[in-house]
Amino acid sequence: MSSVTELGYLGLSISDIEKWKAYACGIVGMEFVDEGEGDRFYLRMDEWHHRITLHVDGGDDLAYIGFRVAGPNELEAMAEKLKRAEIAFQRATEQEADERRVMGLLTTADPAGHVVEIFWGPQVDSHKPFHPGRAMFGRFLTGDQGMGHVLIAHTDLPAAIRFYEILGLVGEAEYKFTLPTGETIRQPVFMHCNARQHSMAFGLVPPGKRINHLMIEYTNIKDLGLANDLTQARNIPIAKHLGMHTNDGMLSFYPANPSGWAWELGWGGQQAQPQQEYYTYDMFGHEPGPPEYGLAIKSTPPR
Ligand code: FE
Repeated sequence: MSSVTELGYLGLSISDIEKWKAYACGIVGMEFVDEGEGDRFYLRMDEWHHRITLHVDGGDDLAYIGFRVAGPNELEAMAEKLKRAEIAFQRATEQEADERRVMGLLTTADPAGHVVEIFWGPQVDSHKPFHPGRAMFGRFLTGDQGMGHVLIAHTDLPAAIRFYEILGLVGEAEYKFTLPTGETIRQPVFMHCNARQHSMAFGLVPPGKRINHLMIEYTNIKDLGLANDLTQARNIPIAKHLGMHTNDGMLSFYPANPSGWAWELGWGGQQAQPQQEYYTYDMFGHEPGPPEYGLAIKSTPPR
């Protein structure tokens, strides 16, 4: 049985590269890589060639999600699984694989139409030390937990779960929130494929966007504090203020990015649990910011 092993890379459509550079490198700490292509730039978080490609095409949204499998045999096994499930996919040409800096990949789409790429063999530039975009106390937590997690738009949650189960992820809804209207919602859904508590989540998304947030995790709490200071010093809107989630125990806040959605910067996440449970509140903090980022639900209890 082939299964994806990590959230490996993301493609993002953007419009303002200078603002993105100031955000992703100057505040968050990623390394900026310009290989002179003109229409795209890369963000590095570790020894990989990149974890994020910024495509300057004005889309200001998620372009594609890259999930890794171990090697070529696992990619073949994944292709067989998709075929059996009657999910359409295309095998990439060598040129397309080169573009993504991987040895091989196939492209498919999930039930909401998000482009999902399944790849093996990323280019790892071990010869080139990671050089953060601003001074860092520690590093980004990647390795066998992948680059982080994403929360993406899905209206048919059971269909989304079925699709990502075929890829090898496991999970279900982990919260029941009561809205101000009195309605109770069973979401978001959280799914994992390695020790990271979740690599993928579905639910609550700003109107008109495919993605709600990308979470990346620091190894040192001081980098989270510094990012929080820098965000406020540069008057970047905060979609959800510093607080702690219950399901992954992560201390995090959500600075809005220049494309009008949020990143979640976190520290101290717990690992995936073998059995499901659900929560009705986050631990503390996470005061909602402006509503347009789809994170305006108050997730902590009244004190
Ligand atoms: Fe998150």
